[in-house]
Amino acid sequence: MIPYERNLDYYQALLDKNSEYEGVFFVGVKTTGVFCRPTCPARKPKFENCEFYKTAKEALLASFRPCRRCRPLSHPNQVSELVQLLVNAVEENPEQRWTDSDFRKLSIDASTARRQFKKRFGMTFVEYARARRMGIALKQIRAGNPVIDAQLTTGYESSSGFRDAFSKIMGAAPTQIGYQTILKAAWLDTRLGPMIAIADEEALYLLEFVDRRGLEREVERLRKRTKSAILPGYTAPIRSIENELTHYFEGSLTQFNTPVVYLGSSFQREVWEQLQKIPPGQTSSYAGLAAAIGKPGSYRAVAQANGANQLALVIPCHRVINSNGDLGGYGGGISRKQWLLNHEMTIGSESS
Ligand SMILES: [Zn+2]
Repeated sequence: MIPYERNLDYYQALLDKNSEYEGVFFVGVKTTGVFCRPTCPARKPKFENCEFYKTAKEALLASFRPCRRCRPLSHPNQVSELVQLLVNAVEENPEQRWTDSDFRKLSIDASTARRQFKKRFGMTFVEYARARRMGIALKQIRAGNPVIDAQLTTGYESSSGFRDAFSKIMGAAPTQIGYQTILKAAWLDTRLGPMIAIADEEALYLLEFVDRRGLEREVERLRKRTKSAILPGYTAPIRSIENELTHYFEGSLTQFNTPVVYLGSSFQREVWEQLQKIPPGQTSSYAGLAAAIGKPGSYRAVAQANGANQLALVIPCHRVINSNGDLGGYGGGISRKQWLLNHEMTIGSESS
């Protein structure tokens, strides 16, 4: 995630094709759906159509695909044919979940491929392919794609070809499987980058930054537990959280009141409720939380429950830091965690 103030610098670097910024940022172009390196030879987009990312993975998760001209996934100087072959294979069929036999079909040694990929891109091949799939699904959500609603009303036919990456991640059409529930998913732009909100007509089930590690699995788990299909769209709780997020980022709201559903064990719920008792501007530790719920020995389980939170910001797991004062981890990324804590400190001191 890149602070807004930086964007202007980056945009200038983009106009200048400044090679010093290679690897510093990637730019997603909203009008074309591609993402580029700073030195891309293609015509430069308008500032308002640019989104800047620190890593290629973030750009992929925001549903951009790699530009064919500047090839932002290749090292400027060298990329092995093997790695390029893999990138191309994913682009041809982003919906595919890769197995060793798929590598064999391409006459690629799976372990070599994986090693080279990781070395070149700093992410595994599986992570790359998953980011692409998730990106495609998120693109549908971002567009609020009415095509899928249309598919629902006309009914699902297995031969219709309506088996795209979206339905693989978000669930096939309800008419086919006889789902009880439909959840709606919306793309919410926030000051710290885009988030995805998933809710039914009553309550919010999930709120996450779209580049959160493991989001695809999280969505799958949610879908299975609720036996739902997830479709692009808005419900009252999504409108409510969108409004509250605006006020939160402006510094005029610290307490979220949108109704939520806690999908977790009773222990996890206990931890999540305790987390919500940490006031904005303050922090706690896993040990502190474990003690607060009267289970001082359950430090590790508390940490796991914290990580299993899928209501970012609403359940303020970012307010948990290490006992020694270090920031500790955060699913949404450390720089966001730091920003949130600073932000809440400011709100706290202004209102007191
Ligand atoms: Zn480009």
